[in-house]
Amino acid sequence: MDKIRTYDVVIIGGGVIGLTIAKEFLENGVKNICLLEKNSEVMLETSSHNSGVIHSGFDATPGTLKAKFNVLGRHIFEKKYLKADAKFHWEKADSYILAFTKDEIEELDKLYDQGIKNGLEKGSMKIIEHDELLKINPYLNKRIIKALQITTSKVIDAHQFGNFIFAQAKELGLNYHLNFKVNEITKNKNHWVIKSDNNHILNANFIINASGVRAEEIARFVEKNPLFKIKTRRGQYLVLDQSENKFTPTGVFFLTPSKHGKGVIVASLLDGRVLVGPNAEDNVPKDNIHLVTVEGLKYVRKIGRKINSKINLDRVVSVFAGSRSINELTNDYYIDNSKEVDNFFHVAGIQSPGLSSSPAIAEYVFKRYKELKK
Ligand SMILES: Cc1cc2nc3c(=O)[nH]c(=O)nc-3n(C[C@H](O)[C@H](O)[C@H](O)COP(=O)(O)OP(=O)(O)OC[C@H]3O[C@@H](n4cnc5c(N)ncnc54)[C@H](O)[C@@H]3O)c2cc1C
Repeated sequence: MDKIRTYDVVIIGGGVIGLTIAKEFLENGVKNICLLEKNSEVMLETSSHNSGVIHSGFDATPGTLKAKFNVLGRHIFEKKYLKADAKFHWEKADSYILAFTKDEIEELDKLYDQGIKNGLEKGSMKIIEHDELLKINPYLNKRIIKALQITTSKVIDAHQFGNFIFAQAKELGLNYHLNFKVNEITKNKNHWVIKSDNNHILNANFIINASGVRAEEIARFVEKNPLFKIKTRRGQYLVLDQSENKFTPTGVFFLTPSKHGKGVIVASLLDGRVLVGPNAEDNVPKDNIHLVTVEGLKYVRKIGRKINSKINLDRVVSVFAGSRSINELTNDYYIDNSKEVDNFFHVAGIQSPGLSSSPAIAEYVFKRYKELKK
């Protein structure tokens, strides 16, 4: 980069959030934008290290941004992306929340009511009894008493989806720099000056911070007291050989959410292998978010065995881990302009269901940008 270029909008972060925002801006005519990513490719961090479920939207607490953008995001996925000729793999996959105890059955009722409050289609959720569930998947634990079945969830190949969005954004004229780790942001007269760790410089009139677990660090380049505080919550997975696929015929099977078990699933991947995990480990150092550990996988095995006693959890072909980005102050997304400086916007704390929410978050960020620019 010889001449320092000034962009109208610079987006920091090439995960699913930064990419969907970039595409939304380009589609709406904001062409002079640039996306910055520290890695040599986009979609290498949390956005491709997850369960890949487009959630229906029953899980998030009513009234939160997570609930609102999950349901809206799922509708956008259905309308805009989940087509027969989509350029990425996806499938309809019903979700089943499994109850082993009386308390968990009560929890299913609560989740059902929560789903209704969040705006889920009434006919899309149903409490089913043991026998009906075991007909759907005879290999599940025989001790499961009931399950909440949700018929509007899907699974996607998140890595392919993000790269599809990236390709579309490039066709629309996206400027981008890979291997550009933002290391310094300063103000020069009317614009921001952004410097990378290897001294590349560019200017921006407006910055969007979509840097995942690093969002608070980016905020601290320009703010003394960011209004969000990011902690990690790592999740580890086992990927089992395709031979185990016959024991997970259809659907995504979840334990009833609890402090430790929330989100743990056993599900067939789109390539026929079987996914088991994730666990949830708070405050892992940010450099360790992709590490898998003996202890973590031991827990994942235990839960896998509890859900489905038939699959062989020793037939492991791969393991991986990713980290949710949790806003400790609210446990919700933080999507707002900086209250300390102008022309700086944060999209932070995008924990699960961030993948499902991404297209709705992108629409909202564009709407806010237009308002701020009036
Ligand atoms: C275990 C687990 C399971 C999940 N399951 C689901 C699920 O089934 N369904 C669902 O909807 N959601 C799920 N999620 C949540 C979802 O994956 C995230 O909400 C989403 O990926 C967040 O995307 P992002 O773009 O904010 O973050 P990221 O994907 O982390 O992207 C941020 C990007 O910013 C870049 N970056 C950081 N710092 C800098 C810098 N200084 N300079 C330049 N670039 C920088 C990073 O390299 C990265 O590429 C899950 C998450 C986890 C961890």
